Amino acid sequence: MALFTSKAVRIDQHGGPEELKLVDVRVGEPGPGEIRIRHKAVGLNYIDVYQRSGLYRLPMPLQLGMEASGVVEAVGEGLPGQPMHLKAGDRAAYASQPPGSYCEVRVMPAKCVCKLPDAISFELGAAMMLKGLTVQYLLRRTQPQGGLQAGDFVLFHAAAGGVGLIACQWARAMGLQLIGTAGSDEKCALAKAHGAAFVINYAKEDFVARVKEITGDLGVKVVYDSVGKDTFDRSLDCLRPFGLMASFGNASGPVEPFSPGILGTKGSLYVTRQTLFSHITTRENTQEMADDLFEMVTSGKVNIRIDQRFPLAEVQQAHRMLEARKTTGCTILTL
Ligand code: NDP
Repeated sequence: MALFTSKAVRIDQHGGPEELKLVDVRVGEPGPGEIRIRHKAVGLNYIDVYQRSGLYRLPMPLQLGMEASGVVEAVGEGLPGQPMHLKAGDRAAYASQPPGSYCEVRVMPAKCVCKLPDAISFELGAAMMLKGLTVQYLLRRTQPQGGLQAGDFVLFHAAAGGVGLIACQWARAMGLQLIGTAGSDEKCALAKAHGAAFVINYAKEDFVARVKEITGDLGVKVVYDSVGKDTFDRSLDCLRPFGLMASFGNASGPVEPFSPGILGTKGSLYVTRQTLFSHITTRENTQEMADDLFEMVTSGKVNIRIDQRFPLAEVQQAHRMLEARKTTGCTILTL
């Protein structure tokens, strides 16, 4: 039964930012395994752009958004073997499938929602869950053979973005030498200030040559590449033998098909295509990763930087800025 009306942002077809429409939707009571959450802030992510544009095709109409924080208003019954871990009044935050966080209030599965520690504000909670959990699984779980040790070199593209600035700080806390790329000198300076050991402006410098110079021709153990089409091939040339290419995004477009033979000639390389949603399939995994993230933030090792705030009604402008590479750090939608 529908109880409330909520403002929400929806698309009726894939396309540009102009497809994002603010509409009224009806929200009901949570069923088994579900909660109803009233948002305080919503996180903006590059995956929202893929889902809007149609790079990732989803059924229409589609309420976008994968990340938010807020207060739990109502909870459904627990599921068999999965008691409800939240109660009305809890502060909470999440990164979730299915999409739908661009709204004031929604009903959603409880399993991906975590209690938000009191020391973390709603705005930070909304900014950090999807991006921070992504850095958690990349740096902690997406490692080359033999693992990563303090002092190791890794290359991280788009290092001044939302995911990127968290990665710079987390890598520094692990003692890694993160080489960050970014598209302007100002962005490079920001990445450096957040813990990148070295920075490369890949809009004007040859990043392969610079990585070889920085690593004394050895190459890096891992490349974390969310840029995709524009960087994938050259990133393979930055790896040392048996190095790991961790592709996790397509900001410049999807990676072109390639023959596995080139992995042999470039040094018996490993390639993986990672997505957060393979890592947070169970509540236990999600909570374990979130606890690690919360500890990094509350201890001050990782500072979540919100550089852009837009009211929910101005979401079109938020998408335009993100796609035009005009943002740094995290962006949130305010309610
Ligand atoms: P960012 O804030 O990092 O924004 C994207 C950045 O990508 C831009 O600022 C820009 O930085 C860089 N970029 C390079 N080429 C282009 C291009 N042609 N068009 C637009 N941007 C470009 O976004 P997020 O922090 O939200 O996400 C970062 C990346 O991580 C995205 O690709 C996203 O899809 C991916 N991701 C993947 C996840 C997964 O689990 N697989 C989970 C979360 C994020 P610059 O100007 O410095 O080049």
